[in-house]
Amino acid sequence: MKTVRTTCCYCGVGCGILVSKDRQGKIMVEGDPDHPVNKGMLCSKGMNLHHTLTDDSDRLLFPEMRYGRNLPRQRVSWDAALERTAAVFTAIIKRHGPDAVAFYASGQCLTEEYYVVNKLIKGFIGSNNIDTNSRLCMSSAVVGYKMSLGEDSVPACYDDIEHTDCLFVAGANPAWCHPILWRRVEAAKAANPKLRIILSDPRVTQSAALADCHLQIQPGTDITLHHAMARCLIENGDIDLRFIRYHTEGFEKLQDTVMVRTVEEAAQLCGIEAEQIREAARLIGNAGAFLSMWTMGLNQSVVGVNKNLSLINLHLITGQIGKPGAGPLSLTGQPNAMGGREVGGLSNLLPAHRDLNNPQHRREVQEYWQSGPIAPQPGLTATEMFSALREGRLKAIWLLCTNPLVSLPDVRMAEEALKQAKFVVVQDISNRPETLAYADVILPAAGWTEKTGTMTNAERRITLLEQLREPPGEALPDAEIICRFAQKMGFHGFDYKDPGEIFREHIQLTKGTNIDFSGIDYALLRRHRSLQWPFPEIKDPAAEPASTGSSGRRLFSDHQFPTASGKAIIHDVPDDNDSEKTTPEFPLILTTGRIRDQWHTMSKTGKVNKLKQHIREPFLEIHPEDARRRSIRENDLVEVISPRGKVRVKAKLTTTIKKGVVFLPMHWGKQKDNDLLRANNLTANVVDPMSKEPDFKFTAVAVHRYIPP
Ligand code: SF4
Repeated sequence: MKTVRTTCCYCGVGCGILVSKDRQGKIMVEGDPDHPVNKGMLCSKGMNLHHTLTDDSDRLLFPEMRYGRNLPRQRVSWDAALERTAAVFTAIIKRHGPDAVAFYASGQCLTEEYYVVNKLIKGFIGSNNIDTNSRLCMSSAVVGYKMSLGEDSVPACYDDIEHTDCLFVAGANPAWCHPILWRRVEAAKAANPKLRIILSDPRVTQSAALADCHLQIQPGTDITLHHAMARCLIENGDIDLRFIRYHTEGFEKLQDTVMVRTVEEAAQLCGIEAEQIREAARLIGNAGAFLSMWTMGLNQSVVGVNKNLSLINLHLITGQIGKPGAGPLSLTGQPNAMGGREVGGLSNLLPAHRDLNNPQHRREVQEYWQSGPIAPQPGLTATEMFSALREGRLKAIWLLCTNPLVSLPDVRMAEEALKQAKFVVVQDISNRPETLAYADVILPAAGWTEKTGTMTNAERRITLLEQLREPPGEALPDAEIICRFAQKMGFHGFDYKDPGEIFREHIQLTKGTNIDFSGIDYALLRRHRSLQWPFPEIKDPAAEPASTGSSGRRLFSDHQFPTASGKAIIHDVPDDNDSEKTTPEFPLILTTGRIRDQWHTMSKTGKVNKLKQHIREPFLEIHPEDARRRSIRENDLVEVISPRGKVRVKAKLTTTIKKGVVFLPMHWGKQKDNDLLRANNLTANVVDPMSKEPDFKFTAVAVHRYIPP
């Protein structure tokens, strides 16, 4: 029996897992009892991970390529595939410049993989055209933290759940989307009867069942709600004047802004009672320690950054940051969205949270990489890449471990974009027919447990994922594929011996920065299961961390923030919402999201029969009154129509959703010839102007009963 330690490849909670393989090749998965995140627990997705490892029937096994769009692809050697890709990239760059190529990666990549692809394009190809699907889930939080705290550093951690008196869960359903974290919340509530939970969500979700105060707000009114809560806190005298005075700036402007609307007016806009807002503010005001958690309800919006800022304001005016049980804790959707942030794997970032627009930062990285000059202008973001492909500005795209034809907004536009592309490289583990149809080159990648590297979860905790088995066929680890390609392009600095060498290079770049974790290496991770950053170099080996895996340093406990003034910035954001407007033709608001037992575009969880038993097919949640007006009954087939496309699914009548709002799960893609299950047929390619994160939570739609012709 061989057993390795790893972390779950699904959500950003980052549960520790033990994976074992016996002599007969049977694979078993169990929660790692010594991992501080989950302490042995796993949710339904994690518990069934072994099923995804026993069925290789959909795996990509060999490199393939074709010489023309209408010609069939053929199996080729790695050398042939990478040499042709390098030749095509070189020709495109020579003719159209480096910004004519792009890499679109994934929050499921390991940090080492993110690191090398970021180094390749920014340092050596000379373009910043790298983005990841994490842009779709957490980029609003990144900008929010930088604008308010001066640094994209999540200030709280999971242990704070056990030390808080008041938890505000905003725009999230962790009971289904971050289940193990929610079990910790349930346990904390059971252990501490004084713990109060506030939840804001237009739907009565499974998480709402635990809430003392559920604010079932109208979609898009989060800022109005947060401002009204701030007003109540100010009026009740529940603010920390000393903290505001010495450690923040901008309070006066916020005070003026939040006083413009009465709590009653705000409540009316939010579609809830004024007393509910007052009660929520009282719970925060009375709390010794106040913690907030949020995900897509705030982030996936055209005003996602402002939603983040207005929530962080509640911490800054109450001084609830930098102490146990307190602080804003944004959750990541993907397992390694945080690792991508660390290496600067977005089109506007550089390693270790350096800024692309800072000449000193560019110089530091360039010198370290011994690369060509790093371009100062940001590259294309996720949705911009596909718009640029469609318009012919971008010629070649490399899709790395992602499924854009299910996950991007206005997915038909993305499909059109791939049709227009001159050259498409797909590097993936499995056969995703939607994307592969456009691939000129297919590069088979190693999957979870088939390679070694690290991931960082939502609380800045790095865990080492150890290799258990060999990849099938000729599949290779993603980092190795990128490094081999870089060498075919003639670039130096990509001849790493192993992933550990990439990690060592990466951590040296963090030295002296705010996120410094130059003291972490694979050996230390093996000894301690996982470690949180910051974690500077350990001078004295006796000072190694305790087995909790924490370096013991709480961010912002000294109330010093890395801004120009050293103070946190309170932003008086406007409380308008520029989402698509409903009209008489499209009168309902569509919000999309996850279900409990599926993960993203179902490329792994969709293979597990047990997980399909929970919910077998997509559905539309609609309020009975909205359904009655349209003569829709339970399980009727309905068509959901937006200006961009349609979806046809069964109706689920429920009073758990607000009138005027409908909900569709986001997981399903094309099934055989049926492309009417994809929620993103409907969503619009509109993004927050600062974070470029799309608005998946507010689409104007019409719904009617489907009558077959
Ligand atoms: Fe995996 Fe997330 Fe479930 Fe933990 S909570 S087992 S990380 S899916």
